[in-house]
Amino acid sequence: MGRLLDPRSIREYAGRIGLRPTKALGQNFVVDANTVRRIVALGGVTGGDTVLEIGPGLGSLTLGLLGTGASVTAVEIDPRLAGLLPATVAAHQPGAADRLRIVCSDALDLAAVPGPAPTRLVANLPYGVSVPVLLHMLELSRSWRAGLVMVQLEVADRLVAAPGSRAYGVPSAKLAWYGTARRVGTVPPGVFWPVPKVDSGLVGITRHGPPATSATRGQVFAVVDAAFSQRRKMLRTALSGLAGGPAAASAAVEAAGLDPTTRGERLGIGDFAAVAERLVAAGAGALRAGSRS
Ligand code: SAM
Repeated sequence: MGRLLDPRSIREYAGRIGLRPTKALGQNFVVDANTVRRIVALGGVTGGDTVLEIGPGLGSLTLGLLGTGASVTAVEIDPRLAGLLPATVAAHQPGAADRLRIVCSDALDLAAVPGPAPTRLVANLPYGVSVPVLLHMLELSRSWRAGLVMVQLEVADRLVAAPGSRAYGVPSAKLAWYGTARRVGTVPPGVFWPVPKVDSGLVGITRHGPPATSATRGQVFAVVDAAFSQRRKMLRTALSGLAGGPAAASAAVEAAGLDPTTRGERLGIGDFAAVAERLVAAGAGALRAGSRS
């Protein structure tokens, strides 16, 4: 796998750019080479892959990915880290430098992923924005079929939760539009610098097509957001704003074959799509066809 970073070299590189890791940017760097090897193996990365990595940081995981022979497109928001990465790769894996493409940007602002179409996403995601970044990358870069992300354990549980379970919510429902997710491991705080307060979880993602529906993704997601914005409320109440009143909401939910007194937490993504279709058909202003992508 080539030379990976150890705790000493990580401190040294951080010192070189005067880096004080910030919570705001979710800067917890992996200092344990075995954890890097585990993530790369669980990610199924091979030499033929082009991997999209969000937040390469000091390069711990990037070096592991490059070590398989894969190409990596790495998106880093912090210009000091993006600027340092080429030298780190040149020092640790000189032959891999031409397989690394660095994009210095907020991942949430990316309108396209430059370079060859990614085949996989593998990332230790910045914790504060892990869900929006993951959903944005699923929507933006549709070529990757499989992914492995490290997130806070609690977020991992939410991403993989099934309808009806306590952790099920907006992240689980929206992720299910794109694919299936499963928890494939946990990671203790001690493998990071600085050491976070919580455990992390590894989530494997396998992409599939969206549910068959005439509603757009934006329309379906608007119904998901409305259903969970008032989690304890019945669908007929939670969706009344979108539908133009509780009676119209009830009618649309019933027409979709569901009980208007049920709560959003029991609906799968196919159910949300069916409700969105009925709301659009009934002319719900907030969901007018074509008004949302
Ligand atoms: N991959 C490295 C590792 O495993 O050691 C670092 C992971 S650290 C949890 C998250 C990284 O994401 C940091 O390098 C941080 O600067 C970067 N980051 C934070 N917010 C970002 C954003 N919105 N877009 C791109 N990168 C971001």
